[in-house]
Amino acid sequence: MIDAAEAYGKALPMMMTAAGTVPAARIFVMGAGVAGLQAIATARRNGAVVTATDVRPAAKEQVESLGAKFIAVEDEEFKQAETSGGYAKEMSKEYQAKQAELVASHIAKQDIVITTALIPGRPAPKLISKAMVESMKDGSVIVDLAAERGGNCEVTKPGDAATHKGVTILGYLNVPGRVAASASNLYARNLYAFVETMIDKENKSVAVNWDDELIKATVLTRDGAVVHPSFSGKGE
Ligand code: NAD
Repeated sequence: MIDAAEAYGKALPMMMTAAGTVPAARIFVMGAGVAGLQAIATARRNGAVVTATDVRPAAKEQVESLGAKFIAVEDEEFKQAETSGGYAKEMSKEYQAKQAELVASHIAKQDIVITTALIPGRPAPKLISKAMVESMKDGSVIVDLAAERGGNCEVTKPGDAATHKGVTILGYLNVPGRVAASASNLYARNLYAFVETMIDKENKSVAVNWDDELIKATVLTRDGAVVHPSFSGKGE
C-alpha cells in the first residue's frame, strides 16, 4: 500500500478545500489473506474507498470488519474454496471466467489495485488481463505482490516497475527482503518451533516422534524408502 501511494502521486483521502475537492482514491485489493488484509487496513487508514475480493468465504467477514466492501462471485464453488489448512484452492475455468467478468467492470473504476492472490504450490492465478489494465485511467497503479510466482497481472514485469498505457505496474521480487528484520524474525521463530518438536530437552538429545503431524507432513525418506505421500506416488 505504501509502495502504491508513492507511485500514485495523488492524495488518497477525500479533501474539501477552498481550492476545490480532491476525491478519495479507489483501491481494490485482490486476495485478502495475510498481506491483503494488511493492505486493506493501511488503505482505510489513509482515507481511501476500499473494495476487496477473495475466493475463500472466510475472507468476506474479515474484509468487512476492516471497513472495506467485499466483491466476489459467491457461488457453490466459492463455498468450498478453502482447504482444511485455511488456504485457497485452484478455481475451475468456469469460476475464473465469472470472476474475470466481475473484476473487469470493477477495475476500470479503480485508481490503485493491489494483488496478493496465491495458491500453495501453483503459479499465481492471472486475475488482471492486459485489456483490464488498458481500461484503467492514466496514472493508476497496480502493485503485484504475486510477481515472485509469475504475477496476478498479465503485464507485470517480475522484478521491475513497468508502465503500460499510462498505468504503473510494480512487480517487486523478494518483498519479505524489503522488511528484512521482521521477515527474518518470523522465519527464525518458525524454524525454531519446528526443530523444537524433535528435541528431547530432558535428555538433551534428538528424539523424533514419527507420529507427530509436523513430522508426518515433512519427512521425505525413512529407513531407505521414500515415505512422503507426495513423492512416493501413493498420495496427491
Ligand atoms: P496466500 O499468500 O497463499 O494467498 C493470499 C490470498 O489470495 C488468500 O487469501 C487466497 O485465498 C487468495 N486467492 C487465491 N486465489 C485467488 C483468486 N483466484 N482470486 C482471489 N483471491 C485468491 O495466503 P495467506 O495470506 O498466507 O493465508 C491465507 C489464509 O491462510 C489466511 O486465513 C491465513 O490466516 C491462513 N494461514 C496462513 C498461514 C501463514 O503462515 N501464512 C498459516 C496458516 C494459515
